Amino acid sequence: MDGFTRESFGGRVVFGPGAARTALADGVGALRVSKVLLLTTKRAEPLARELTAALPVAEVFTDVREHVPAEVACAALGVATREHVDCLLSVGGGSSVGTAKAVALSMRVPIVAVPTTYAGSEMTPVWGRTEHGVKHTGRSPDVVPRLVVYDPELTVGLPPAITAASGMNALAHAVRALAADPVTALVGGEAVRVLMSGLPKAVAETDRTAALYGAYLAASAFAVAGSGSHHKLCHELGGTYGLPHAPTHAVLLPYTAAGAVRGLRELAEEIGAPTSLRAIGMDADDLAHAMGRLPDSADLLAAAYEGRWPA
Ligand code: NAD
Repeated sequence: MDGFTRESFGGRVVFGPGAARTALADGVGALRVSKVLLLTTKRAEPLARELTAALPVAEVFTDVREHVPAEVACAALGVATREHVDCLLSVGGGSSVGTAKAVALSMRVPIVAVPTTYAGSEMTPVWGRTEHGVKHTGRSPDVVPRLVVYDPELTVGLPPAITAASGMNALAHAVRALAADPVTALVGGEAVRVLMSGLPKAVAETDRTAALYGAYLAASAFAVAGSGSHHKLCHELGGTYGLPHAPTHAVLLPYTAAGAVRGLRELAEEIGAPTSLRAIGMDADDLAHAMGRLPDSADLLAAAYEGRWPA
């Protein structure tokens, strides 16, 4: 194995059903902060107020928007400065924590994040801000939340369409991590496994815990791996054309991941591994028989028999 350099990020993580009600107040208390700016959406405001009832919340900012438009970042910073807050607490998806990050870049105060989607921004040092139709992103340790409270109960009721798209966003993080250093790739691989089995259950509302756990794993690995070409493409489309972040990931991931599939094929050819079923001894009669027995895989078998590149 070649050597590698690995730099990980992250504060304290508390994960568990009910954690937002049992661990948030103590966790924030341990940070010894005295004035909190709560950043959330209008939809989540009642929940956010309930969860933070025991905390010194000075003001609530609910005008968060996707891709953090510059005017939203400025407005949030204005409130934070006016109120002299010493903590930013986000309750919501990537747009809420993204707004907190934009403020923290200027104010250098700790962020506490309570995620309600699978976007994963809470684990990364990546910030984003959109100005004149262009999305600017960067990395700074100052925007990594000091405390993240993952509570699957807060994601119950996340509509199936948002769950699915946000889950694919998490999967994109996991896939990216597979190409990073060995430790990060290990976490990415586990995230792929957990998300592949957890997302259908989350959409069906039978189990939300696995999907959120997978999203956490994926985001913590992505934080180390950094953006690849898939993410750069999504950010470009999202920032420039106003496309929604998670659905853009959902649409493009199968296309960009196909590059990894081509890489597998190139590797097989390079090292002289077999690339067709015919080459390993299958004859045409057996192929026809197999296609009859396994109709769902018939097209795949026909291509693999000839050794045609996967579409
Ligand atoms: P979002 O925060 O805008 O949430 C998507 C929608 O889901 C919103 O309408 C929101 O109100 C709703 N919602 C959220 N939680 C809900 C719940 N529990 N129940 C019902 N509805 C709920 O979008 P997102 O996909 O979470 O995040 C996207 C943003 O985050 C983008 O701006 C993206 O660039 C950023 N992002 C950043 C990083 C990073 O590392 N910096 C990573 C991922 C995403």
